[in-house]
Amino acid sequence: MSVAQQSANLAYHDRVKRILPGGVHYNFNMPWEEVPLHFVDGRGSRLVDMDGKEYLDLYARFGAMILGHANEEYIDALNEAIERVLCVSHCDFDADALELMHAHIPSAEMIRFGLSGTEILQTALRLARAYTGRNRFLRFENHYHGNADNVMGGRVTDRRNPSPVDYRGDYKGTAGRATDIMAEQSYMIPWNDFERLEEFFAERGDEIACVLTEPITVNGGSIEPLPGYLERLRELCDEHGVVLIFDEMITGMRLGVGGAQKMLGVTPDLATFGKAIAGGGVPVSALVGKREIMHLLETKKVIHAGTFNGYPLGTAAIVATFNILSRDDEAATKQMQRRVGELQNVLVREAQQVGLPLIVQGPAGVSSFHCTDKPLVNPGDYDFEVMSKDIIVATALQRHGVLISSISRIYPNVQLSDDDLDYFESRVKPALAEAKRSIDELF
Ligand code: PMP
Repeated sequence: MSVAQQSANLAYHDRVKRILPGGVHYNFNMPWEEVPLHFVDGRGSRLVDMDGKEYLDLYARFGAMILGHANEEYIDALNEAIERVLCVSHCDFDADALELMHAHIPSAEMIRFGLSGTEILQTALRLARAYTGRNRFLRFENHYHGNADNVMGGRVTDRRNPSPVDYRGDYKGTAGRATDIMAEQSYMIPWNDFERLEEFFAERGDEIACVLTEPITVNGGSIEPLPGYLERLRELCDEHGVVLIFDEMITGMRLGVGGAQKMLGVTPDLATFGKAIAGGGVPVSALVGKREIMHLLETKKVIHAGTFNGYPLGTAAIVATFNILSRDDEAATKQMQRRVGELQNVLVREAQQVGLPLIVQGPAGVSSFHCTDKPLVNPGDYDFEVMSKDIIVATALQRHGVLISSISRIYPNVQLSDDDLDYFESRVKPALAEAKRSIDELF
C-alpha cells in the first residue's frame, strides 16, 4: 500500500476528530489511540475502506451484522418499510415481529421493544425491582451490560461484602460516575464459581431483586457455563424469590433464533436482546419475559417509555431477520457455524505452525481466540497478559485485511463463503508470524 493511499483514511480521521471527541463514536479506556477505518462499501463478508483496502469482516459491528453486508432479502424488506410507513407509533409489522419472537424464544411470553441494550437492561432492572419490592441486584465479574453507571465495570475488594466500587484500572473504568451507585445498587461475584454463588445466596439471597448474567460470557472471553451452573442459578433464584435475567444481547440469534436459553435449556424470567435481533442494520433491543412480571407494564405500575420504541423500520427488520434465520430449520445459521468452525481450525493450525500458543473457545458464532494454551474458565481469567497478546494478534490481522474485535471475538455472518475462508487462510499466515515476533519481544 502506498503512502498516498494510506493517508486518505488518516486525513479523514483528522477532519472528523476536530469535532468528534477522539474521532470515534465510542471510547473504552483502551491503552492506545484508536484510528478507526472509515468504510465506503460492504458486500457479504467484505468491507472496503476509504483507501480502497479490502477487509474480511469478522467484527460485524460488535456482533450485530449477522446477515452480512448488502443482504438482498433484508434490504428489500427495509426498503419496503421505508417506502410505506416510516415512523408511527404502531404499525402492521408489530404482530409478526411479536409472534415470531414469541414462537422461538422460550421466555418470551410477552415482549417490549427499545433501541439500545443499555437502555432495555435498565427497564429489566426496574421491572425486577417492582416485582420483588427489593432494590439490589447481583451481577458478575467481567460481564458487560451496557454503558450505564450502575452496571459497567467496578471491582470488589472485600469478599465478605461483595459490593463493587469504581475501578479506573481497566477499560470500563470511568470518571463521572454517580457516587456510590454501584455499591448502593449491586453486588458482584466471580462467575462459574459454585462455592461463591452458594455462599452469596445463603447470605444475601433474600435481599436481591434479580440476578443479571450473560448466559455465555462472551464479553469475558466466550466462556461457557460449567455443567449445572446456570441450572443451579435458576434453582437458587426460585428458592429466594429472585428474578433471573439473561442478557442475550450477543447470544440471541448468533446461537440460533431461540438464543442461548433454548440451546442451554435454562429459561430465565426476563431476557434482553439487541444487536443481531433486527439483523444489525437498524438499532432495536427487546425485553422479553414471563407474563406475570411483564403484567406490571400492562397495569402501568411500571413505566417503560421511549420515542422510537417499536418503530416500523425496527419491527420490519426483526421480521425479516427471523424469516431469514429461521428458514429451513435455521439452515443459514448452521452453515455459518460450520464455516466459522473451519476458519477457527485454520487459525489454530497456523498459530501452531508459527509456535504461538492459541486456542479458540466458545460456541461457533460467539467464539473467541486467546493466546494461551488452555481455555479460560472464569471471566476473571481473562487477564492483562492474555488480553494484550490477543490485541496484538487482532491488530496484525487487521493490518493483513481481517477485521476482528480487539478483544478477540470472532463474529461471522450468514454470508460467510468458501471464498472468504480461502481469503482468511492466505491472510492469517503472515499476520500470525508478525504477531508472534511482537509477542516474543514484549513478553
Ligand atoms: N449487554 C451485552 C452482553 C453487550 O455485549 C452489550 C453491548 N456490547 C450491551 C449489553 C449493551 O448494548 P448497547 O451497546 O446496545 O447499549
